[in-house]
Parts: sequence; structure tokens; C-alpha cells
Amino acid sequence: MKSSKINNLQQEIIVIGSGVAGLASACRMAAEGNSVLVLESASTYGGKIGEYTKDGFRFDKGPSLFTLPEILDELFLDCGKNPRDYYNYLQLPIVTKYFFPDGSELNAYANLDAFKKELVDKLDEKADKLDAFFSQIEKVYEFVYPVFLANPLKEFYKNIKGSWWDNLKILLKMEAHRSLHSSNNAWFEHEKTVQLFDRFATYNGSNPYKAPATLNVIPHLEHQLGAYYVQGGMRKVVDSLYNLALDLGVRFEFNQSVENIAIKNGLATGVDTKIQQYQGSKVFCNMDVNMAYPKLLAEQKQPRLTLKQEKSTSALVFYWGMQITDSPLDVHNVIFSGDYKEEFACLEKGVLSDDPTVYIYISSKVDGKDAPANHENWFVMINVPPDSGQDWTSLKEKARKNILKKLAHQLGDSLEDKILFEEILDPIKIERETSSFGGALYGNSSNNMFAAFLRHPHRNNQIKNLFFVGGSTHPGGGIPLCLLSAKIAVNGSKKE
Ligand SMILES: Cc1cc2nc3c(=O)[nH]c(=O)nc-3n(C[C@H](O)[C@H](O)[C@H](O)COP(=O)(O)OP(=O)(O)OC[C@H]3O[C@@H](n4cnc5c(N)ncnc54)[C@H](O)[C@@H]3O)c2cc1C
Repeated sequence: MKSSKINNLQQEIIVIGSGVAGLASACRMAAEGNSVLVLESASTYGGKIGEYTKDGFRFDKGPSLFTLPEILDELFLDCGKNPRDYYNYLQLPIVTKYFFPDGSELNAYANLDAFKKELVDKLDEKADKLDAFFSQIEKVYEFVYPVFLANPLKEFYKNIKGSWWDNLKILLKMEAHRSLHSSNNAWFEHEKTVQLFDRFATYNGSNPYKAPATLNVIPHLEHQLGAYYVQGGMRKVVDSLYNLALDLGVRFEFNQSVENIAIKNGLATGVDTKIQQYQGSKVFCNMDVNMAYPKLLAEQKQPRLTLKQEKSTSALVFYWGMQITDSPLDVHNVIFSGDYKEEFACLEKGVLSDDPTVYIYISSKVDGKDAPANHENWFVMINVPPDSGQDWTSLKEKARKNILKKLAHQLGDSLEDKILFEEILDPIKIERETSSFGGALYGNSSNNMFAAFLRHPHRNNQIKNLFFVGGSTHPGGGIPLCLLSAKIAVNGSKKE
């Protein structure tokens, strides 16, 4: 029989999972004076924001790009702390270095004017059209952020300000009715520019040929609001939140996998792990909703439409300790495929293209401590479909061969003998380590114009005192949106 743990019975807030959204929810609830307990099935906090170290090398295991630092800063400030006492970040001069199959290269400079000049000089883009594009996506973001991203799904209409005519103009500019690719194709002269801006669909695991053009708010974040490097690596994001949580008195129990959320008369009353029952006055669930409903809420009505949505892509990541000093790469690099449409058609079919777009992240280029002298830490990633029973052993072998072939062609050098050691992350591991359905990185994809409205809201109307946070919930995946999900859920919880 399970023992029953009754800690501060009426006051205890239970958080299931310590991903970035679980940690943020715990901090916000603790800062309000609540007693908070986080139950985490893994042996450490952070979920997908992991770290891997070996032989003097350090690798960020998951995220590599940090945007909207003000959202993380705001969390510390709301909790009465100075964010700079916990973490810091800096802007890199080049956001991403792009490589195309014909051997050409392009730098996406952090300075927007320099980036636009690069697009004009190298790809014959028209300066006035680029200005119009960046101005339009800024306006759309300024509308979407308060109306949709920073507030509960159901309250979006309450946050619409201004005249109906102004709002109608913005709604048309959002271009939810057409695909990101079709919009980019109309904006830009050169197919390479189209490919470069289409790539932003992958920032939430979507397909630019299906996802709405509203996703053009993502390049606004990266190129107008800025992309940043967290000093000490991305793991510092969750280290800082964990330290904040401890300072606020949050308690953690690791290796505690929650198996059931107890519901009595439409009210969440606690959770069960294998060995123990915990009673709580409120429960925050940071487990992917696609897993939480069938596993923790099996007897409750399932949100069928949400669970049925197409999942986001997953990733194959090769962590390579490289004996190399003079690679022509920057911190963030994208080596594009020759046929982007075919690459996404393969992902749709659940298979891998022979010519994948390869993303390489080398943090040792900015932080020498991440690799021994004369070495580099390569994080080499391709987008892959979420797991649906594929033979990942053979897919990994095939991907590795194709990546090495592509890099040899692009960089003019065979790299295999420079790899000192290798570790691989695949969809099966992502699912096993973080309970994310099929290893999808961002929950559901945004591959149709309704997807954003079908993400799970911060609560279920049928169950009181239960809140949902994280990348599978509104407003979506990626660190900043996960942080917003926690803020929305905590604010919502105060109304119950
Ligand atoms: C390879 C990769 C690259 C990425 N790149 C970027 C990027 O560059 N920028 C960016 O912003 N985002 C990126 N992301 C996405 C980002 O990492 C996620 O959106 C975000 O970290 C998800 O946080 P989350 O709060 O949803 O929780 P998760 O990280 O999914 O963590 C959930 C936690 O809950 C725990 N848990 C689950 N079920 C239970 C249970 N039943 N009981 C107890 N504990 C449980 C899990 O063990 C885990 O610790 C990337 C992700 C990956 C994997």
C-alpha cells in the first residue's frame, strides 16, 4: 500500500516536472507565499535543457538559442530578485552563418542594417522591400504578443485594443490564411532568401509549406529583438531558475515519477507516485499534455482535438568532441539542403531526406572553456519526424553518413577522423528522458491555421485546481513561450 504524505496539507502546491515551465511556475507560486513541492521523474531538473560533459568538453544538450531575455528577467523581478545575480547573457555579432549547396555563404548579422545589406549585396534583395517586411512583422508581433502570446487563450478578444479598422488591417497582415513559404515567396526575390526565412517554421517544429505566415513573427524576435548567448551555456537558464526556486523555499524530490493526478468531484486533490500519495491544494502539470492525459488523467474526458493534432518535429543531435581549430564555422551555422520542399515532404512521411539541412552549434567559439585548447564542441542537429515506430538505429547510421558527406562537400574536408567521441540524442531518448510524446520538441506543430487555438489552455474547464504549463500548452514551445505559459497559469490559478 502507498504511504500518504501530508505536507502542509491545505497549502501545498504540487508541480509535476521541473522543465523550464515547471520551475517558473514553482518560483512564481513560492514568491506568492505558497509552500511548493516539485516532483521530478529524472534525477535532475531542467527537462530538455540538459548538459553533457566529457573529457573537458561541455555541450548544451537541447536548446542553443536564447530569445526574449526580458521574459526570463521579468520572472526574477516578479519574485523580488535581481536576474543579474542569477544569470547573464550577451549578443553575438553574427546570429547565424548560412551555407548554401552551391558553396555560397551569408552572414545574418545581429545588426539589422548589416543583415539587410548582406541580403541586398549577395542575393539582390530590394532594400525597400526588406524594410517593408521587417516593419510588417514588427507590427504583427506587437499585436500578437499581448493579444495571444502573453494571455490566456480564451481571453484574447479582451486584449484587442484600437479601432476595428486598425485591427482588421493587422489581421490581414498576419496572413494566417496562407503558408509561410507562399508569403516569403512573395516578399523576396531570391530563392535562398525564401529558404532562409522559411527556416523559421522549424523554430517550433513546423513545416513552412503548411504553417501559416503568422510565424514570420519569429524572425522579428531573432533579428529585431535579438538572439542571445547565455553565459556559461543554456543550462544556466534552468540552473538560475533552480537556484531562484531554492532561494524562495521550493522543495524538490527527484526520481519521483507521478503516475496519477487525483481528482475528486471535479477538483484536483493531489498526485500519486509509485510509492507515495501527495495531497495538494493545487497541481501544476509540466508533463507534455499528449502524455499527461492518457497516463495521469486516464479516467477524465480527453481533449481529443488537441491530442489528435500533428506533432512537431523531433531532432537527431550528434555531439562531437572535435580535434579541430580552424573550422570556417561560427557559433550558429546552418548548412542548407538543395531541395527544402523535398526535405519537408520526407519529414511528413516520417522518413529522412538524403540531403538534410544541418544545424551546427559550437559554443566553444564564444566560450573557450567549453572545449580543450585546439578543440571544438560540435552540436550537429537535423530535424527528424517524431517517433512513430521507425528503425532509429538504421536512420541514425544513414543520417550520420549523409551529414558527413554534406559537410565534406560544403567545408571541403573530411571530418570523420577529427571526431574524438560521439554521443547521440534521438526521438526515443527525448521521449524517455522528458516524457515528450514521440520525442516531439515543441508538443503540437503549427501546421495549420487553427493549430495555435488547439494547443491545450492553462486549465481544463472540467477540473478545478489543475493547471497545465510547458511547451505542449498555450502559447507554445521554446523557452520564452514556456515561461509565458507559467505566468498565464499562475495568474489563472489565483482566480480559483
Ligand atoms: C534538441 C533540442 C533543441 C532545442 N532548441 C531550442 C532553442 O534553440 N531555443 C528554444 O527556445 N527552445 C529550444 N528547444 C525547445 C525547448 O527545449 C523546450 O520547448 C522547453 O525546454 C520545454 O520545456 P517544458 O517546460 O515544456 O518542459 P520539458 O523540458 O519537456 O520538461 C518536462 C519535465 O517534466 C518531467 N516529467 C514529465 N512527466 C513527469 C511525471 N509524470 N512525473 C514527474 N516528472 C515528470 C520530465 O522529466 C522533465 O524534466 C529545443 C529542444 C531540444 C530537445
